[in-house]
Amino acid sequence: MSDIITLQNVSVHFPVWGFLPFLKKGEIQAVSDVSLRIGRGEIFGIVGESGCGKTTLANTMVGFVKPTAGKVLFEGVDLSSLPRQEFKKVRRRMQMIFQDPFSSLNPRFNVYQIVSEPMLIRGEDDEESMKARVVELLEMVGLSSGDLYRYPSDFSGGQRQRIGIARAISLNPSFLVCDEPVSALDVSIHAQILNLLLELQEKLNLTYVFISHNLADVKKLCDRLAVMYLGKVMEAGNSDKIFAKPLHPYTQALMAAVLNIDFSGKREIAVLPGDTPSPIDPPPGCRFWQRCPKAMRGCKDVPPEYVEVEEDHVVACHLVNGFPKTELPDGYDQPLVRSEKTVKVRR
Ligand code: SF4
Repeated sequence: MSDIITLQNVSVHFPVWGFLPFLKKGEIQAVSDVSLRIGRGEIFGIVGESGCGKTTLANTMVGFVKPTAGKVLFEGVDLSSLPRQEFKKVRRRMQMIFQDPFSSLNPRFNVYQIVSEPMLIRGEDDEESMKARVVELLEMVGLSSGDLYRYPSDFSGGQRQRIGIARAISLNPSFLVCDEPVSALDVSIHAQILNLLLELQEKLNLTYVFISHNLADVKKLCDRLAVMYLGKVMEAGNSDKIFAKPLHPYTQALMAAVLNIDFSGKREIAVLPGDTPSPIDPPPGCRFWQRCPKAMRGCKDVPPEYVEVEEDHVVACHLVNGFPKTELPDGYDQPLVRSEKTVKVRR
């Protein structure tokens, strides 16, 4: 399978300005040194807590955000090397489905205006053919020609998300970023929209990046995935392999936190202590050491390297890969003693 998107050591930092103009106080390191590849026709999941850099990374893939360092290749072409007109052409083949179907649709536009807007921007002006195309798209997403002149306020959340999907596929994209597309929807609608996304992927041969907090959705949908924490990828690769044998302590904690239906009354959940540190001043060693229940003394100072532990399964953790053979602090492999401990909660 050829790759549609390749990220090579991509970092995205945003400046934090001080009180005085042009006085830079620091940088938010939203994404740090991420290298990934996404194959054509696959569904690639990105999971992690809020603020871990999932959306910034996806925005970088579609060219909304320019990387501070590294390269984003779309079908082997470096996006930053393209002249403006060429970039616009490529950009049309990459679209986004947004999280909130309420704020992502203009309430003053009717369905026809919303879905045909990308075609108008591309320069189409034949009203009849645009109308026919919009009706075709609406039918594809489970709406009908009778909805053409209705406004977003006339629809439920799930129907609005269908309109957003129709707009996203209106220019025949090959790559779609689905940014938590079902997290704002009722549980009853949730499965319908996921099934619609799967149907469209097969029918139109789309590649998805699927951003989610919901590991059950990721397990159901994704062929491959990346687990992010504080702007870095902790574990990545084949979804079945990661779900069968999560190796990174953060992935293990995320999976342990997924609720399954168990009425036995005794269930233990590992709760990670503390909050995610600030991305303005991330820890120098492993970014997860302050919350890691298995942290060793050396984890504070020595950043772990990515190692492919099996085919298409990469992990960045000293516990799995061992420490590099460099100068290491005394007792580097001894458990790190902290005041806060992992708490076991019984439900
Ligand atoms: Fe935990 Fe150390 Fe592995 Fe980081 S490198 S996840 S702190 S064991």
